[in-house]
Amino acid sequence: MSVPHPSAALKGGAPVPLILKCTAGSTGSAVFFCFGCVVLFAHAIDPPPWRLHNALMNDASSPLVSVSQAQRIVLDHVAPLPIVSVGLDSALGLTLASDIACDIDMPPFDRAMMDGFAVRSADTGESGATLTVIDHIAAGGSAQKELSTGEAARINTGAPMPSGADAVIKIEDTKWTADGGAVELQTAIAAGKNVCERAEYLKSGTVVLETGTRLGPSQIAIAAASGAARIDVYRRPVFAVLATGNELIEAGVAPQGAQIRNSNSPMLSAFLSDDGVDVVSLGIAADDRASLTESIKYGLQCDGLCITGGVSMGAYDFVPEVLDACGVQVRFHKMSCKPGKPSLFGTGPEGACVFGLPGNPVSAMLGYWLLVRPAFAAMQGRGGELPKSLVAKLDGKQAAVGDRDSYWPAKVESDEGGLLVASALSWKGSGDPFGMGRANGWIIRHSGSPAVGSGDSVEVILLSRL
Ligand code: AMP
Ligand code: MG
Repeated sequence: MSVPHPSAALKGGAPVPLILKCTAGSTGSAVFFCFGCVVLFAHAIDPPPWRLHNALMNDASSPLVSVSQAQRIVLDHVAPLPIVSVGLDSALGLTLASDIACDIDMPPFDRAMMDGFAVRSADTGESGATLTVIDHIAAGGSAQKELSTGEAARINTGAPMPSGADAVIKIEDTKWTADGGAVELQTAIAAGKNVCERAEYLKSGTVVLETGTRLGPSQIAIAAASGAARIDVYRRPVFAVLATGNELIEAGVAPQGAQIRNSNSPMLSAFLSDDGVDVVSLGIAADDRASLTESIKYGLQCDGLCITGGVSMGAYDFVPEVLDACGVQVRFHKMSCKPGKPSLFGTGPEGACVFGLPGNPVSAMLGYWLLVRPAFAAMQGRGGELPKSLVAKLDGKQAAVGDRDSYWPAKVESDEGGLLVASALSWKGSGDPFGMGRANGWIIRHSGSPAVGSGDSVEVILLSRL
């Protein structure tokens, strides 16, 4: 399948064809399913990559970095993307690159906040009054007459107040007289009631959204209300997602033998899209150098490339070697956390950020959270935006932690007193994505921490934006 590279249009160049592939295999001869086609695949047994293996095992050539060091390295290599001007309908999830000021007083006129009658409060007395109705002002309309003593104007929510009036009495508190020419008020009303004065919210020229603000639905509403139909934002990044592994098949295929469904690509694509990134899916690459090279080369044309699998110590974990051959400079390979130790980060010859995440789905998910998401934020001019950690009371027990920070899927809720409580969910390790189905956060336990029990404080990060 050939598709134009989404970033090509954004960069102003001619679309570059990207070939999306889905290949999978395993050692020996086997039958594989590729988008419904059945192919025969024979994998040659490669000699084990001893040199690479030994280099990886050697901490001096590939030192284990802490999570915070890894995040610093990523942030040191990510620059904000160019600033572009976009319409509001293309701005969701992007970040403002210049302040937005409101171009008018808001509201721009004294405005009725209720359907009812505009009155002079002084006319309403203690026990109600009967006022002659001289006008009807609808939203978008204008008053035809000034209100004098003893007069009222029918008015609708959002309509401009007639001069002379200083309050709106809501329709529920009124009754028309039998001839329909006057209104009887059921209650008195104070000056200013149900009226929003001109500039009560803000004055023309007030900055309403600052550079660096991420645009969600409410920020987009504010920009629209302020007359900013086109706004300056950091260009939307394009990330490629590549799953690797001879054993992988796509979700719609029934596994045969030792095949495993690719859940990482849909997960990463979903995370990226939810964060506001354009995603190019590169499908599945087999564990061979040629297949990986082809896919990685495509991915390096994007702003980011997320690869899962093939970064550990296995005989067929060729990703680091192929990245090197494709000109990627690996900045770290191995992070001191559990799960996720084999995680890798590098930069492509043209600056693409390359993430090599372990294939185990929970490790890949954690890697997205710890590394990929902060990189996306930095591309959007929000460098330094790291997962926010909060303190919660633990419900359950957690063993003492070894020499790597440990992350545990958790359900984080607030108790009756409004305090956060984190319950560790049962899972069978990083290959088991099913425990994550109920998780909305991670419990973080730092290396060397002692065992903890119910009621103890633990650090958590939430799997949703706060
Ligand atoms: P790797 O990191 O390639 O050694 O893979 C570690 C484990 O994760 C293996 O059991 C793989 O089958 C599994 N795995 C790798 N990639 C994926 C994927 N895209 N979706 C689900 N599981 C995967
Ligand atoms: Mg693999």
